[in-house]
Amino acid sequence: KGIFPSNYAGYQAIDRICDFYYNLEKRGPAADVEPGYLRKALPDHAPDQGEDFQQIADDYLSLIQPGLTVWQHPSFFAFFPTAATFEGTLGDLYATAIPNPGFNWECSPACTELEAVVMDWSAKLFGLDEAFYNERGRGGGVIQTTASDSGLVAIVAARSAYTRAHPEVDISKLVIYTTTQTHSLGKKAALILGLRARALDVTLENAFSLRGTTLQAALGEDINAGLHPFALVATVGTTSSGAIDNLAEIFEVAKGYPSLWVHVDAAWAGATLACPEYRRTCYLDQINQFADSFCMNFHKWGLVNFDCSGLWVRDRSCLIDALDITPEFLRSKHSEEGTVIDYRNWHLSLGRRFRSLKIWFVLRSYGVQGFQEYIRRTISLNDRFVSLVQSSDELLLVTPPSFAISVFHVDAPANAEHKLATQNRLTQALHKRLGERRDIVVTKTVLNDIFCIRFAVGSARTEERHIDAAYTIIMNEARAVIVEDLP
Ligand code: PLP
Repeated sequence: KGIFPSNYAGYQAIDRICDFYYNLEKRGPAADVEPGYLRKALPDHAPDQGEDFQQIADDYLSLIQPGLTVWQHPSFFAFFPTAATFEGTLGDLYATAIPNPGFNWECSPACTELEAVVMDWSAKLFGLDEAFYNERGRGGGVIQTTASDSGLVAIVAARSAYTRAHPEVDISKLVIYTTTQTHSLGKKAALILGLRARALDVTLENAFSLRGTTLQAALGEDINAGLHPFALVATVGTTSSGAIDNLAEIFEVAKGYPSLWVHVDAAWAGATLACPEYRRTCYLDQINQFADSFCMNFHKWGLVNFDCSGLWVRDRSCLIDALDITPEFLRSKHSEEGTVIDYRNWHLSLGRRFRSLKIWFVLRSYGVQGFQEYIRRTISLNDRFVSLVQSSDELLLVTPPSFAISVFHVDAPANAEHKLATQNRLTQALHKRLGERRDIVVTKTVLNDIFCIRFAVGSARTEERHIDAAYTIIMNEARAVIVEDLP
């Protein structure tokens, strides 16, 4: 009894973590608890005396685990995958055990050096241009917590670059451009920084992709109104439907606005760049030629445990100019000599976790080929789901499938009077029924008035049988909904 666990506790924790994953299919992906269950089960204050560690570990199993939604479950098809691998878990465990807030090189040289190396490995894995490599010394890659942080940091750098070039400009006139499908990170950055954001309309006909003409018109309008476009968040693989903004057209337009910073958010779909056959679809050439910053989340589809978001910039000085504040105690010989990277100037906080360790573990364990194989396998699983949906009379894809995500709704009878309203009603009812189940999780979305269900594949443990089972559940529930809806 006491504060210190026995030597055995660590081995037990690893065993229990493995057991959890090996026995995942004995439970569903959804949590099986009601709101407030934990407050009822726990005392209302911390214990006065240290408790027996075994009791705490056992309570984790009995109280906490049932309240977990298991994003790594093979039947989890909601949101986007958050990859978890044993390699990533162990890398994170080592990092947690050495919590150096490695904000500069001196703080812990290995933290800075490994991050610079694995971000270059990853840039090469994804086919990014040398301009984004740390080893070239001008641009570079840095790990952020999330894509939202990556977006915010990019916008901070963009704002700083713009205001340095145009010191006369009233900051309240700066505008960030997004689309109605961009992740909320664009709007949030504007909110935090007190800037304007304009969400451009995108259409079903264009598969929700931002087109050059739309951007051109908005920029022209705003400049005529005395505003200053300074940043665009373009997306490769939007959250709702996996839409890919037309970067070829966007960059043609952006050529006319050299001060417009283009941040490419490929938080989810960026992992597909590991496979040469998807690079064209993701506009890699354009990213390499023009993007000022690029983000992909290792922790989504990149096999690395949450949290771990990769941000690459073409010109690191924009980050440093925007974020460097150096009191005397942070000055160091190597930083002053410019021989090392000071990652504290590449993100918002000072201290930073040793996240590169888990990327290193994962990339070495999987290798480039293993990484590619995982991406290709999950895409082919989604292709299987797509062909099942296409073979059904009841379900209809709303947009073309994007990599490993499909968006569908329940079709209405051909003679239905208000077709879209009927489709929406049926799909809402289907989503409600699926939400009451514990054996599958999917997410809803609305695409320009169309209520849809998203099906995102990505768990490293999903196999064909899970796709087939999910389709059967969805079809049975859809048929039940249609029968219930009959007059
Ligand atoms: N960008 C896209 C395209 C996303 O789909 C998401 C999350 O789903 C995000 C950004 C936000 O990711 P994070 O939670 O890392 O901020």
